[in-house]
Amino acid sequence: MARAKTKSSPHQQYEDALRKKQHELLDSYERDKEAGNAQPDDGIQDLADKAASAYSKELNFSLSDTERNVLMLIDEAFARIKDGDYGSCTNCGNQIGEKRLQAVPWTPFCIDCQELQEKGLLS
Ligand SMILES: [Zn+2]
Repeated sequence: MARAKTKSSPHQQYEDALRKKQHELLDSYERDKEAGNAQPDDGIQDLADKAASAYSKELNFSLSDTERNVLMLIDEAFARIKDGDYGSCTNCGNQIGEKRLQAVPWTPFCIDCQELQEKGLLS
């Protein structure tokens, strides 16, 4: 629980949380991959899914869309931390609330824009 001032990263706690979540997802992917090897591939994969998986072909094996999406968001969050943009909404630029970042540290949106996105009003 280091809440001490770190000179290197003001977002250390979020970085830690992101890394932890990333490991969780990758771990379950590894596990599923091993389990999956024992089963025949059902061969069901539509074109949209194939296109989406081009980004992370390897990960496509067993992670759900949601999990793959979160992994991508985590990558992007790390990039924003590097760029110093972390904590700002990528849509409107507003500060994302601390509570929200603690709950979903990989979120690119503030709560308002998240709602818009869920309603499909955000491209
Ligand atoms: Zn916003």
